[in-house]
Amino acid sequence: MRLYNSYTNQVETFKSIKENEVSMYVCGPTVYNHAHIGNARPIVVFDTLKNILEACGYHVHFVSNYTDVDDKIIKQAIESNQSEEEITTTYITAYEHVRQQLNASTPITIKVTETMDKIIDYIESMVKEDIAYVNENDVYFNVSSIEEYGQLSNQKIEDLISGARIEKNDKKKNPLDFTLWKATDHGIKWHSSFGEGRPGWHTECVVMILDHFKGTIDIHGGGMDLKFPHHENEIAQCKGTHHHALANYWVHNGMLNIDGEKMSKSLGNVIWAKDYIQELGGNVVRWLLLLAHYRSPLNISAETIQQAQSEVEKIQTVLKQTRLALMDLPLQTGILTPLYEAFLDACKDDMNINLAMSVVFEQVKQLNQLLRSKTSSKDDIVSADTTLRKMMSILGISTPHPQLSTEEVSLVFAWNQAKKDKDFTLADHYRSQLIERGVLS
Ligand SMILES: [Zn+2]
Repeated sequence: MRLYNSYTNQVETFKSIKENEVSMYVCGPTVYNHAHIGNARPIVVFDTLKNILEACGYHVHFVSNYTDVDDKIIKQAIESNQSEEEITTTYITAYEHVRQQLNASTPITIKVTETMDKIIDYIESMVKEDIAYVNENDVYFNVSSIEEYGQLSNQKIEDLISGARIEKNDKKKNPLDFTLWKATDHGIKWHSSFGEGRPGWHTECVVMILDHFKGTIDIHGGGMDLKFPHHENEIAQCKGTHHHALANYWVHNGMLNIDGEKMSKSLGNVIWAKDYIQELGGNVVRWLLLLAHYRSPLNISAETIQQAQSEVEKIQTVLKQTRLALMDLPLQTGILTPLYEAFLDACKDDMNINLAMSVVFEQVKQLNQLLRSKTSSKDDIVSADTTLRKMMSILGISTPHPQLSTEEVSLVFAWNQAKKDKDFTLADHYRSQLIERGVLS
């Protein structure tokens, strides 16, 4: 497996810390609203990466989080007259529904509220080690205590300081210092030795990783927008407290545009993942999100949606028709065709899904040819069918049940009988029903 490592800015040969095992952590959402279609991209990208690693023989230990403590959640709770927990429970359920509908497996997910004691202990340890300081009742991380700050985002400290995105805060010694603990007088808060308040965003992931995996992990993932400052700050805290790397490979997915424009509230082009899934189905949305290389920006437009719809349909159609050809055989699994190796090689090359998809269509073409030819062996059809289904399961596309249902089998028999009886009206009637079910085309 070769993977682009954002930390070294190059494609590297992947080597796991433990043999045949991969530890992977991906930053999860802040649960104050529904997931938009951009939030669905990391779900699909990292689930596909997990499937590929599993196909390579690794056992993947996949952990993610829910940021269920945040100013946006507190604001939403006050505005809607609900508790923070009511808000987060609603949106965690909605997020899990989206993940399920995108055929993504569920990682071990940890909530900030469940980890609060460990987060507070960790912040206290940073103050003790003098890499963090208390100002009034807030706690800040001292960025200048860490050498190589800026390595992940490939930026120099001086450039970062002059960057316009750093907000001025008189309580900070250095404008790059980030909040570890924030004293609050409203909304949900916890008790700590610094006073009542809540933790900053950057500490939760480090605590969860160190607590869960007890050391450096193989892969840390997230959207490109998290690279700076979030991931840079995760690295700095881990270096400051544990003096080792947080992760060996940093993997970031690209952003998403709608008709060439960034999705934003002000442009009014925010699309909820749930609405797309409802309109297009989970398979089409997942395929759509895989159309661009995971590191490139993905543009969603009427054309790309149309492309995803027709490509998924093409695959589903041939798989449905295969069931008719194999109707008399018991359910069986064939030997994978040589195309499987080519497919997996593409996936293993920094997730070159575009190339993998072209191999999928080569397999579709071969299967179609086998179905059309009167001399095809059933074994060859079974092999091609098994291979195509296996490719789909790695890409996370659900496929029709490999066998016709009893009802469909009866329809096929009735159709054949009507043809034999030369009752063409009745034969047409059955034929159209079989077309409707995708058994015939
Ligand atoms: Zn994170």
